[in-house]
Amino acid sequence: MDFQKLVDVYEELEQTSSGNALREILSTFFKTVPKEDIAMISYLTLGQITSEYESVVLGMAEKMVLKAIASASGNDIAKVQKIMQETGDVGLTAEKVLQKKPRTLVPVGKLTVQELFDTLQKIADASGTGSQDRKTNLLVSLLQKSSPQGAKYISRIVLGTLRMGVGDMTVLDALAIAFTGEKKNKEYLEKAYNICPDVGVIAETIAHKGLKGLEKIDVHVGRPIKMMLAQRVKSWEEIQKKMPGKVAAEGKYDGERVQAHRDKKGRISLFSRRLENITDQFPDLVEYLQKQITAKEYVIEGEVIAVDEKGKLLPFQTLMQRRRKYDVEEYVQKIPVQIKLFDLLFVNGESYIHEPYEKRIAQLANIVKKSKHVVLADQLISDDHTEINRFFQNMVKEGDEGIMIKNLEGEYQAGTRGWNWIKWKKEYVKEMVDTFDLVVVGAFHGRGRRSGTYGALLCAAYNKKKDQFETVCKLGTGLTDEMLTELPKMLAKYKVNTKPARVMVKKEMEPDVWFDPKVVVEVLAAEITKSPFHALGLALRFPRFIRYREDKNAEQATTTKEIQEMAGK
Ligand code: AMP
Repeated sequence: MDFQKLVDVYEELEQTSSGNALREILSTFFKTVPKEDIAMISYLTLGQITSEYESVVLGMAEKMVLKAIASASGNDIAKVQKIMQETGDVGLTAEKVLQKKPRTLVPVGKLTVQELFDTLQKIADASGTGSQDRKTNLLVSLLQKSSPQGAKYISRIVLGTLRMGVGDMTVLDALAIAFTGEKKNKEYLEKAYNICPDVGVIAETIAHKGLKGLEKIDVHVGRPIKMMLAQRVKSWEEIQKKMPGKVAAEGKYDGERVQAHRDKKGRISLFSRRLENITDQFPDLVEYLQKQITAKEYVIEGEVIAVDEKGKLLPFQTLMQRRRKYDVEEYVQKIPVQIKLFDLLFVNGESYIHEPYEKRIAQLANIVKKSKHVVLADQLISDDHTEINRFFQNMVKEGDEGIMIKNLEGEYQAGTRGWNWIKWKKEYVKEMVDTFDLVVVGAFHGRGRRSGTYGALLCAAYNKKKDQFETVCKLGTGLTDEMLTELPKMLAKYKVNTKPARVMVKKEMEPDVWFDPKVVVEVLAAEITKSPFHALGLALRFPRFIRYREDKNAEQATTTKEIQEMAGK
């Protein structure tokens, strides 16, 4: 397919400020895309060249892209830099420079999507000496072949700033409409996507094999599975209603969820809850797993916590210091970790994802040789409230968040907050407060002591059904002065000039600055009240910032449905 066709669609998407229109444009376009191009086009529309979990980086800096724009247009770099200063955006710079007539170097040939994709792949692959030049030259060749508008998008893709307002769910919606004729079939695409969170694979499967093909998608070692989540309830009675009889209670540890994959060749990959590959952060954990897990091939899950020498739990913030690219070895020594294993999804060629919890956990116990660093999560199987409550109190005393109650017969509901797991946290018992993971979608300029920085952040919950972010509170409390000073810098890369299409906000709440919905914050709130000022129609009262949730992405935030349920709606 000619890349210019995709460019025309991007131009349309860019003008759109409604989520429904985004889906409409995309699905109409997808119907015209040849099957062999659909995976590439799905990735490109998300600003990627492969699934997000493979974390392929094109590795180009702004300076290099500007240099390429200069070469491709036959301009000197000073001129390009000047235009960059005026526009503040590399994409617009590319478009403007290449639009200038006469274009010293005229476009040569036609750029196809396949060629663009292959060249971007080469840019990503280039490494070592001379790679910067190689990357720049490859980019020059692309820019030379594209229209000024095309150059705008290519420049943004290589810098990782293509923001079409489209998320994975938007693409799934559009694929469902384009290839099955019905939006409601997205349910099946999402189910497959939860086990295989690779938009390209889903696109290709639905295009070539239809819904039947999607059904066959199963666990694949080395490819992360979207993690199962827990529901919350207001009272203990509700748990008993949802899960009558015997249940399993496990400690709920405050650490980082990790999904560990080991393939037949012995290679271990660790994935975070956001499905990032975090293997390099935990060389110690990889070593422990190699020694303590007896199966050859597996996918298992657990919570990694930081512990002191005596094995006592350290705070979540301490563990977060292990999130680093540099000085990893030093921090392995400084902050030892332990994994509390609690699930098994695959072992030696067999998928366990649809097996009941009891069977999964029994198989897990079979393959774990316990040690100081690799243990099974504390567990109690019982139907006696008093006994479970005692277990809960013990867990809280040890510094854990509370307990997880699991349905013994429940399957692993990938990517779903289903009723097979229920969380019961210490906050629920003490007072009527709870924490929410919200997405930062805007900010208000500060006044007085906070002038020059942001005074408050506009936060939203995720409406999963509609694939949009609906505001629920203005957050100003709990941020230290130091954090406030850091905020504009930290959020700068997500700043956008207009309201992102999937963000829903009432006129009264329009912020001074908009952000692409990316950053997730944990917020403690005391109450949920009705509110005409927030898109959800409900607001969190007395919200207080607790911490950043780097381990979550925007679509993993608290859902509007959860908040409605908590408010008794
Ligand atoms: P939440 O983020 O509040 O929905 O709680 C779910 C998270 O609790 C999971 O993603 C895990 O990171 C964490 N967790 C801690 N202990 C357990 C456990 N025993 N079983 C499942 N998840 C756990």
